Amino acid sequence: MSKGKLFVISGASGVGKSTVLSRVMDTRKDLIFSVSATTREPRSGEVNGVNYYFVTRKVFEEMIARGEFLEYDEHNDVIYGTPAGQVNEKLERGNVILDVDPNGAFNVRKARPDATLIFIMPPSWEVLENRLRGRGDTTAEQIEKRLNRAKWEMDQRFQYDYVVTNDQVDTCADEILKIIAEKAD
Ligand code: 5GP
Repeated sequence: MSKGKLFVISGASGVGKSTVLSRVMDTRKDLIFSVSATTREPRSGEVNGVNYYFVTRKVFEEMIARGEFLEYDEHNDVIYGTPAGQVNEKLERGNVILDVDPNGAFNVRKARPDATLIFIMPPSWEVLENRLRGRGDTTAEQIEKRLNRAKWEMDQRFQYDYVVTNDQVDTCADEILKIIAEKAD
């Protein structure tokens, strides 16, 4: 038996997941974030080993071949994966948070049925759509792809243990903290 509990958080791009997660992690210092590996380029401000492990596709595929991932998934030509060894080691120390997409969440559940899955919803579809359209650096086709992906992700919410709404960052973070306290304390 490991010491900690595993929590999986998902939510469509644009829902404010990273802001909510930062608030949750700032409030409960015992939570340990699982750092995923990815083949995408770092965005400005992202730090290797903190936000992600940024690796090449070749390295990622070698890691897959060695069976190093608890789960991995490819979307928008990028592969993301949760390193299994890291999660096990972190669970020995405390409660662990994974930020993964729905495919990843369901694969984690298969491997670790005791994991708690939490999905973050936007206040409304219109709010999310405006945010996704407002990210000015993309073509109409890319925006359409993003919107379709967001719709698909939101349709998966019924398979999660909990669904919370990010109407207001503090309230949403509090709801997640309550779930964590119920399961972990
Ligand atoms: P971004 O590229 O914006 O950081 O993340 C895009 C999506 O990839 C988000 O929905 C995020 O939850 C998901 N993601 C991040 N890390 C992992 C991972 O290790 N596995 C899976 N399956 N999805 C991930």
